[in-house]
Amino acid sequence: MIKGEQLYSGKAKTVYATNDPKRYIVKFRDDVTAGDGAKKANMKGKGYYNAQISARLFKLLADNGISTHYIKMVSEDEMLVHACDMIKIEVIPRNIAAGSIVRKYEFKQGHPFAQPVLVMDYKNDAAHDPMLNDDIAIALGLVTEKELRKIRKISLRVNDILKQFLGDRGLDLPDFKLEFGKVDKKIVVADEISPDTMRLWRKGTMESLDKDVFRFDKGDLLTTYKEAAKIIVPEIFK
Ligand code: UDP
Repeated sequence: MIKGEQLYSGKAKTVYATNDPKRYIVKFRDDVTAGDGAKKANMKGKGYYNAQISARLFKLLADNGISTHYIKMVSEDEMLVHACDMIKIEVIPRNIAAGSIVRKYEFKQGHPFAQPVLVMDYKNDAAHDPMLNDDIAIALGLVTEKELRKIRKISLRVNDILKQFLGDRGLDLPDFKLEFGKVDKKIVVADEISPDTMRLWRKGTMESLDKDVFRFDKGDLLTTYKEAAKIIVPEIFK
C-alpha cells in the first residue's frame, strides 16, 4: 500500500489517497481542539492512543457483525480504510446526560436515561453543527428515509456493543458520536471512535477519561488517554 496525496485534513485527522482508489489512509494527528476549534493544543502521543483505541473498537464492531470502514493499522497512528462517501450527519447515542443535552434541556449532569436517546447533528462547521430531526435530514438530501432507519438501527446496536464492552472494563459510556459513510450503496460506520468522540467515565464516578479533561482543564489529557488506552487496548502496553 503506497500513501498518496493528502485529500483532506480535519481538526485531528488527515486523510490520504493510496495507490488503490478504493482505500484511504487516515492519520490520527496529535492535535486536539475543543469549543468549535476555539481551544487548540498539540500533545505528542495523543494520535497514537486515539488510533489504537479506535482500531480496537472498530474490530469489536466487526466481530459483532457491524460493517465499518476500518481495514487495518498501517503504522502506529495510521489506519487503512475503505474509501467512502461520508454522510454529513453526526449521530450521538446518549445513555447518561452530559454536555450539550444538559446545557439545552433540563437534565442534570449524570442523569441516566431509561433508554438510549439518539441525537443527530448536521455536520456543518460554518453553521456550528445544528441539531437535525428526520424530516430536516431528508429535506436537506443528506439521507433517504430508508437510510435513516438503517443508521438508527446500527447506532443503537453499536451503543449496546460498546456499552457492554466498556462496562465490562469498569467504564460508563454517557455518550459518543458516530459518523457513517457509504461504500457503493452500503452504509458503514466510519470516522473514529476514540476518547475525542466519546464520554467515558469511571463507572459510577463521573470521572472523565475523555476530551472533557481538555475542554474543562480537568488535568493532563495525554495521561488520561493513556489510562483509557490501558483499559481498552491493554495489549499495546505489553
Ligand atoms: N462529539 C464529537 N464531535 C462533535 C460534537 C460532539 O465527537 O462535533 C461527541 C462528544 O465528544 C461527546 C458527544 O459527541 O462524546 C456528545 O457531545 P455534545 O453534544 O454533548 O457536545 P459537547 O458537550 O461536546 O459540546
